[in-house]
Order: sequence, then structure tokens, then C-alpha cells
Amino acid sequence: MIAIDNLSTGKRANVAHLEDTNRFTLVEHDIIMPIKIVEDVAAIYNLACPASPPKYQIDPIHTLRTSIDGSQNMLELARQKSARILQASTSEVYGDPETTPQPESYKGAVNTCGPRACYDEGKRAAETLFYEYRKRHHVDARIARIFNTYGPRMDPQDGRVVSNFVVQALFGVDLTIYGNGQQTRSFCYVDDLIDGLMRLMASTDGVSGPVNLGNPREFSVLMLADMVLEKTRSSSKLRFLDALQDDPRQRRPDITLARTILGWQPSTALTDGLDRMIAHFAQELCCQSKVAVS
Ligand code: UDP
Repeated sequence: MIAIDNLSTGKRANVAHLEDTNRFTLVEHDIIMPIKIVEDVAAIYNLACPASPPKYQIDPIHTLRTSIDGSQNMLELARQKSARILQASTSEVYGDPETTPQPESYKGAVNTCGPRACYDEGKRAAETLFYEYRKRHHVDARIARIFNTYGPRMDPQDGRVVSNFVVQALFGVDLTIYGNGQQTRSFCYVDDLIDGLMRLMASTDGVSGPVNLGNPREFSVLMLADMVLEKTRSSSKLRFLDALQDDPRQRRPDITLARTILGWQPSTALTDGLDRMIAHFAQELCCQSKVAVS
């Protein structure tokens, strides 16, 4: 197995246990540049691109190029190697949706000129590249639209809501709520998501269009904050900050298609996934003794 990563948001320590085996190689490379691979390649998961808003907004043009130039380079590699390829697309292609839950047929409401556009529009353009390579070059290309995902080994500095709240609660500092906290997300545990991605890659059903992968249970940001505070028995308070520009107000996947063609649905409830994540973060942040996970 070969992993290609420019380590802009990841770290080598996350795969140290794999590097100790002789079946895994990590190549430090930025996929906006083409890459030559001498080995045979059967399948490519294109997971490249920072997904956390504060991270992908650091260098928006690079973010856009990661999804567009990076996808094209990976599609060319798939074409050369006759490999199957799966694109990690996103629920952000739906923007700030006017309908809920969001089925794959919903075309989205995305602002092309806003702080999230570099990510959203890059991922939308990548879907089009996948569609065209499939049609014109007969590349076996698949697209997963991934909804909010969380779990152990997330970077404590990632900046997204679940890791922020867990870290803040563990350190006893205020939980930062953007806007009034009534906006919703549907949080999928990482193991469930990986199971869905692997099923989509393995599928022989001739699935050609995008497939939503996410947990259909929807929570407001305030509900999430309450759960984290209760589980960590933290004395942290809530601090309400200005709402973020173009922040989607609601998000919940319709996973009928994934259920039907992949036989997939998430099996980890948020309460259980949070327990595992809090335990991992407590250990990572060396404050195990301060925390009693419920
Ligand atoms: N959010 C928040 N406090 C934080 C981080 C995020 O209230 O410290 C909110 C954010 O405004 C959004 C939701 O939580 O409404 C999910 O944000 P995240 O960055 O995790 O993911 P995304 O917006 O990309 O779905």
C-alpha cells in the first residue's frame, strides 16, 4: 500500500504503526504535481485536501488546486494503471441546503465567492472531472459525498467542532459556539465512514453517480456541546461568537442510496463515538486524570 501525503494537516505519527510493516510506504508529495508510481496500482482513494474550514482557508488557492489539479493527476494515474479510483467528495457540495435531508439529486446552494468556496467549488469541480474521466476515458471512477466525520486520531488543533469542543472541555476553557448554536450537523464515526468507502470501492453494481456517506442522526451544535460537557464532567462554559459567513444552517444526509446499493448504514451512535474520542484525546493531551468519561 502506498500513501501519498504532503503532511499539510496530517502527521507521520498517525501511520507509524503501518510504516513498521513491509506492506506500507508513505511518500511525501503534493498531488497538485504529477507523480510517477512504478508499482502496479489496483485502487486509488483520493482523500487529499484539508477539510477543516480554518485549515482550508489558510491557502484557499492551494485548496482549490488540491481538488482540481490533484484530482486530475490522480485520475491520470488511474487511467495509466487501469485502476479503480474513488473521490472523497463532500456534503459541502450542497452548500447551505434549502432542503433536508439532502439526497444526491439535490443540486446545492453554494456561494462561489465566499470563504468556503475554495473547498466547496474545488470538490464540485473534482466531481465533474471524475464524471468526465468516467465518460470519456472509461476510468472506473466513484464518488463518495462524505458528511461530517469524527473520531480518535483527529488532530486536536483541527479546528472543527467535535475536536474543538472535546479539547476545550478537557482543558476547562469556554466552548466556542459560532452564532446561536441552532445550526445542525450529522456526525459519522470514522470507522463507519471507512466501512462505507471500502464498500463503495468494492461495489460491482456499476454505481456511476455520487453516493452520500454519513450518519443520518442530526444534532444542533448546542446539543453537541451539552453532550461533550456532560461526558467530560467539565466546568467549561459556552461562549457565543459571531456566526461564520456562509455557515450551512442544517445538514443531514439521505442515505437511501448507500443503504440500497452498498447495504451500508452507520452503526456507531454519537454517544459511543464521543466516548471513544474523548478517551483518546484525554490520553493524547496527557490529562487523563482530570477526565472521567461517562
Ligand atoms: N462550530 C462551532 N464552534 C467551533 C467550531 C465549529 O460552533 O469551535 C460550528 C460551525 O460554525 C458549524 C458547525 O459547528 O456550524 C460545524 O463546523 P465544522 O467546522 O466542524 O464543520 P463544517 O462547518 O465544515 O461542517
